[in-house]
Amino acid sequence: MRFTRLRLTGFKSFVDPTDLVIADGLTGVVGPNGCGKSNLLEALRWVMGENRPTAMRGGGMEDVIFAGTATRGAKNFAEVSLAIDNGQRLAPAGFNDSDTLDIVRRITRDAGSAFKVNAKDVRARDVQMLFADASTGAQSPALVRQGQISELINAKPKARRRILEDAAGIAGLYQRRHEAELKLKGAETNLERVSDTIEQLA
Ligand code: ATP
Repeated sequence: MRFTRLRLTGFKSFVDPTDLVIADGLTGVVGPNGCGKSNLLEALRWVMGENRPTAMRGGGMEDVIFAGTATRGAKNFAEVSLAIDNGQRLAPAGFNDSDTLDIVRRITRDAGSAFKVNAKDVRARDVQMLFADASTGAQSPALVRQGQISELINAKPKARRRILEDAAGIAGLYQRRHEAELKLKGAETNLERVSDTIEQLA
């Protein structure tokens, strides 16, 4: 799976639709301070399912919507779309039936955000798992924030282990285990109720 294009509309400082082609090899983004370089990285993290406003340098998730300037009014929505080359069919099961994956996240003021993969509605969790299974995602160590290196140096061993697990592509397994444990707990509670009812009837 290879990222091939990032498109932003109304996302932070990118008020007009902006397409960035991600070519083979190394891509550099250069520009003066405050031109929006970090916003691009945040757009990538956001479309992969980031839900922590602090990771987006905001107070709330709607802060990613273009807030307006002296000359332009604020926008009512923000949208980021990420195209992925899946020609080698390396996407996780369930997403593997086309050569290109187009992942879109859109947030509308007072209406929250929604995801689509190849124009089909999906849950945030589906997108997060898609990237976790491919050893990447919003919290992947491949995306390095400013100040993150010193955070890593000072991190506790547990936090460092999580980085290794992310790199090994097993982060999604933890989420699945957690969900399986919740289901098991639900099933145990149901069984207890059934035995109580049987006892009462006996
Ligand atoms: P530096 O090199 O200093 O780190 P940068 O190129 O990474 O800068 P960013 O931090 O990505 O720049 O962009 C900051 C700009 O984005 C600021 O001008 C800020 O006003 C603008 N910005 C951030 N959020 C919004 C928003 N919701 N609406 C409009 N503009 C925004």
